[in-house]
Amino acid sequence: MIGLIAVTAAGRRAADRLAAAWPARTVRYEGPAAEAVGRAFAECEQLVCFLAAGAAVRLVAPLLADKATDPGVVCVDEGLRFAVPLLGGHGGGANALAEQLSEVLGTRPVVTTATDATGIPGLDTLGLPVEGEVAAVSRAILDGSPVRLEADRPYPLPALPSWVDADAPADAPVLRISDRVRTGGGTAATLRPASLVVGVGASRGVTAGEVLELVAETLAGAGLSPASVARLATVEAKADEEGILEAARRLGVPVTTHSAEVLAAVPVPNPSAAPLAAVGTPSVAEAAALASAPGGVLLVPKRKSQPVGRPAMCTVAVARRAVRGRLALVGLGPGARDLLTPRARAELRRASVVVGLDQYLDQIRDLLRPGTRIEQSGLGAEEERARTAVRLAREGLAVALVGSGDAGVYAMASPALAEAGDDIDVVGVPGVTAALAAAALLGAPLGHDHVSISLSDLHTPWEVIERRVRAAAEADLVVTFYNPRSRGRDWQLPKALDILAAHRTPQTPVGVAHGVSRADQWHTVTTLAELDVTTVDMTTVVTVGNTATRRVAGRMVTPRGYRWQQ
Ligand code: SAH
Repeated sequence: MIGLIAVTAAGRRAADRLAAAWPARTVRYEGPAAEAVGRAFAECEQLVCFLAAGAAVRLVAPLLADKATDPGVVCVDEGLRFAVPLLGGHGGGANALAEQLSEVLGTRPVVTTATDATGIPGLDTLGLPVEGEVAAVSRAILDGSPVRLEADRPYPLPALPSWVDADAPADAPVLRISDRVRTGGGTAATLRPASLVVGVGASRGVTAGEVLELVAETLAGAGLSPASVARLATVEAKADEEGILEAARRLGVPVTTHSAEVLAAVPVPNPSAAPLAAVGTPSVAEAAALASAPGGVLLVPKRKSQPVGRPAMCTVAVARRAVRGRLALVGLGPGARDLLTPRARAELRRASVVVGLDQYLDQIRDLLRPGTRIEQSGLGAEEERARTAVRLAREGLAVALVGSGDAGVYAMASPALAEAGDDIDVVGVPGVTAALAAAALLGAPLGHDHVSISLSDLHTPWEVIERRVRAAAEADLVVTFYNPRSRGRDWQLPKALDILAAHRTPQTPVGVAHGVSRADQWHTVTTLAELDVTTVDMTTVVTVGNTATRRVAGRMVTPRGYRWQQ
């Protein structure tokens, strides 16, 4: 919950607004400020204080206990100009809350956490548990002094600054990315990837204590960190084995189960007769660990618990998952910065490599984190770009493949996904495609059924294009032409318009939108009879209305339906 504290009339009005916007997330604390802050601090995950920063600091200071448990505190001035995260910027979520407040209250977030302000990712914001000397290593990164990166294998992290690298001097502080316990000395912070799967076999009635003890011993014996355990895995017959479920709860990980048939088919080093008789597979611990880590390797073969004075009831084995990179397919929109979605922006900052056409990369270069690797290429090299992006993701990197408009519309997403296997994670981010951006300029041309057709016959034979234009003409669909006309391709657009004209009157409205949302934007609404095709080029879309589309006050309007509105 978010506790709201206000003491003046103006502050209370602001708190009312926030409470009305987020009724389920907020709770009001009334009464004298010190007492209200005290109660909210104890009861809430976050506080919004409509108080001067100085007052809030004095009230909160005596309550501070621990960075890990203190709530996030955001201070908002009564004039609703600024939202200042005072406490718990990352861990307490105060920076994120200040951003969200700007949407409800119109306040400007004033984020002072160094890692946010400099565009360098905080070690605690990378989505992985981090341990060790986090403050010291973060400090070194912010100071721009060398930090040695020790990754035991690639991991899809966002870009790190150039002074964080594998070749830094041996005495530099170390940033590790590893599931192994550290043995050497010196200053180090370790990010823990969720790379390990622990397979568990157990007899009926095993206790959580016996499972946990064996897991801990096994990991410690192999020099592996419990913080990197992603899940426990076992056989379906043990899906309700309370000792395993409770052990998973205490480790804070899920349990995955596999059928005996699946496990029996997994080659393992130590099959045995006992589980075969009991549950129908010669291996549970080793086979389940491997089955939950496709493409991975068995790090620790089966080990048995050794309780004193009674038979062992538990076996475990540990597998490491294969490296899994991340490919984001990111549409940048038609050009203007404010038509780039916040999600696209976040994905650009999540990546360590960005792949795309040089002209699109120029559009967003300033948004990338320092240290982001750029793989750019010129027009035409589409297949190669797609292949490069997938190859880099397969190597375990966080890759963003960018394109204008939507990345899936006449763009890179299809060649990339035709190439990608299920060995990488793929995230699609929709973008504002040219047809939509143009429609918003032209009026409401897409109010009823519509279709997009590319007139580029570079990769599609003209007969196919023509058949589709004819079908759209017969079906009375509104048509948006992409790639309508270039210097070398000038007869296709007139031909396509002729086909439509056979089914629509010469007065049918046609919208031409050029360079939408860019500096050279222009648009016009004309008719099939009057359109001057020589004004159309490759940064243009042409939208032809259906038989119901009208020109109203210079705008193109396609009615929602033929019956209820004309
Ligand atoms: N993925 C892009 C389309 C790529 S095909 C998208 O979703 O928008 C390239 C064609 O898109 C161009 O020839 C042009 O017809 C159209 N286009 C792209 N951006 C445009 C813009 N800002 N204004 C007008 N047309 C545009």
